[in-house]
Amino acid sequence: DANAVKTVYFTFDDGPSANTLKILDILDSYGIKATFFVIGTAKSEYMPQIVNRGHTIGLHSATHNYSSVYADVNSYLADIQQISDIVYNTTGVRSNIVRFPGGSSNKVSAKYCNGIMTDLTVRIPSLGYSYFDWNVSSGDASAVRVPADKIVSNVLSSAKGKNSICVLMHDTSVKTTTVDALPAIIEGLDAMGFRFEALKAETYGFHQAVNN
Ligand code: ZN
Repeated sequence: DANAVKTVYFTFDDGPSANTLKILDILDSYGIKATFFVIGTAKSEYMPQIVNRGHTIGLHSATHNYSSVYADVNSYLADIQQISDIVYNTTGVRSNIVRFPGGSSNKVSAKYCNGIMTDLTVRIPSLGYSYFDWNVSSGDASAVRVPADKIVSNVLSSAKGKNSICVLMHDTSVKTTTVDALPAIIEGLDAMGFRFEALKAETYGFHQAVNN
């Protein structure tokens, strides 16, 4: 349906980083909002700009260390509280949106705690958080530096035929080609009729199937 409203949610994981301000400048130049799932070992000094420039800040992990985060449920909950406090102390925002390291469908957590994602995907909503996965991957984590044109084609080809997409990208210092790809991704999705939105707790969660 050419008249259907199409919505795209950009998500940037693992920042803030040396690339955050470049990403924010590109988003500003197109007048669009996105979502940043941040970690505690990153450049927290850029967290206020994410908030002050109108984007959503979400909780990813304090340590992003799978073996400790997924050691057991209490370890996960302590980690998410830790990044929540970092975000709050840095920005004044008490975020209620979460992205699990590896997504809710991750299998790596099974190495550390059998069934933990089955538990957390129920417990996190019960604690008042909304968690978000994605239905479009930029593929920018499949190598250290994926060519920008490959990142663009990954997103645009995966967006075809969908009316609501949540795009996984990464905001780390090595992901310079993600920054390079961003204008063409924005222009391509705009030409396909997508409108750009930041995630809110009540947004559809793009939940993947749980595998552990
Ligand atoms: Zn991550």
